[in-house]
Amino acid sequence: SLSDRLGGVFDRLRGRGALTEADVRAAMREVRVALLEADVALPVAREFVEKATEKAIGQNVLRSVTPGQQVVKIVSDALVEMLGADASELDLGVTPPAIIMMVGLQGSGKTTTTAKIAKRLSAGPGGRDRKKVLMASLDVNRPNAQEQLATLGTQISVATLPIVAGQQPVDIARRAMQAAKLQGFDVLMLDTAGRLHVDQALMDEMKAVADVANPAEILLVVDSLTGQDAVNVAQNFSDQVPLTGIVLTRMDGDARGGAALSMRAVTGKPIKFAGTGEKLDALETFHPERVAGRILGMGDVVSLVERAAESIQAEDAERMAAKMAKGQFDMNDLRAQLAQMQRMGGLGALAGMIPGMKKAQGAVASVGGEKVLVHMDAMIGSMTIKERAKPELINAKRKIRIAKGSGTTVQEVNKLLKMHLEMSTAMKKIKKMGGMKGMMAMLG
Ligand code: GDP
Ligand code: MG
Repeated sequence: SLSDRLGGVFDRLRGRGALTEADVRAAMREVRVALLEADVALPVAREFVEKATEKAIGQNVLRSVTPGQQVVKIVSDALVEMLGADASELDLGVTPPAIIMMVGLQGSGKTTTTAKIAKRLSAGPGGRDRKKVLMASLDVNRPNAQEQLATLGTQISVATLPIVAGQQPVDIARRAMQAAKLQGFDVLMLDTAGRLHVDQALMDEMKAVADVANPAEILLVVDSLTGQDAVNVAQNFSDQVPLTGIVLTRMDGDARGGAALSMRAVTGKPIKFAGTGEKLDALETFHPERVAGRILGMGDVVSLVERAAESIQAEDAERMAAKMAKGQFDMNDLRAQLAQMQRMGGLGALAGMIPGMKKAQGAVASVGGEKVLVHMDAMIGSMTIKERAKPELINAKRKIRIAKGSGTTVQEVNKLLKMHLEMSTAMKKIKKMGGMKGMMAMLG
């Protein structure tokens, strides 16, 4: 991953006074490879690296961070900026009904996202400003496509346009607009048909509907797993209809999110939402920082650091940083970490953010999730001071004593020890990035 590779660059850069052109170019080569690995399209990666390089060269090195960290920060900031620094909401400030048209390839998630957005609008933000939403499927190609939307509508209690067999998309759109107007709907969502590949028949149909409907929003729905093809898809749709935004689906998968960057760069349109699952509430406003972290393969390090800064006492952090610098991480540290995890929103939230932390999360999940934090605290409480400082002392006999003392089992003690081991490994990764202190300093 990029953090590993940049680790090498960090080592080379560490201790130098300024960001020279050679330093920056060396780091940027790694960044470029990481972008391509994350499926960012080549021309987009090239342009991005060019811009970021310009920004980085000649910058004065901050005293509090290493040059490597500074390069990462510059790259991360540039990525966030390119992805769209501020989340952009739907703009429905037109005379109702405001029409939202969904376009994209078949299987990208248009129909699901139509229902997700309808659900969100009809519930209103925080229950206020609820919209009366009508959904209509213009997909006359795929068998049962209209029925699929009707079923989703029933699930979320959102109205769908009654199905009339044999009608063509433009006519369905007209009928939907009329119904929406007559029945006083605030929002009309038009779910269109997709093809497996971009083709002109699809494009013509889509253009005709857009001309008739004059939508307030035309959202391009894209599967985040779309690789290098993302640029072509975005370019084609963008050339044919005036897109207002992008929805990135399947962000719950292991896509690195490079498609987001390509789409954004090619269309210049904001990414408005991210789909994060098959369920109809799995829709989030787009977080550029998260995707930037994913593209860089660094987990959500930046937001981890921000949250850590909020919840960790400065002295704790200093103490932890000093220990990590020595490569130490004992049971007392684990205990402190467990307490912090609880404050920071549980293991689930934390694990996704630290590179290499997934394993530790797995260890905890395998023994019963967050509730187990209490047990772990009890087990550490039953250890002697020596055992806490040197967990490797804990042999079979000691395990039995600790289990008895804490009202747990030897198996649980074993799992705790395993988790400790895995976390020390994760801590070493953090150390490689300059330590928690360095990461906090990096954010100013
Ligand atoms: P359409 O052909 O563009 O209308 O695509 P559909 O909305 O029918 O979605 C195709 C499949 O993708 C369905 O099985 C959806 O449940 C699934 N899907 C859509 N969005 C997401 C998402 O954000 N995450 C996951 N995991 N699956 C999704
Ligand atoms: Mg569909």
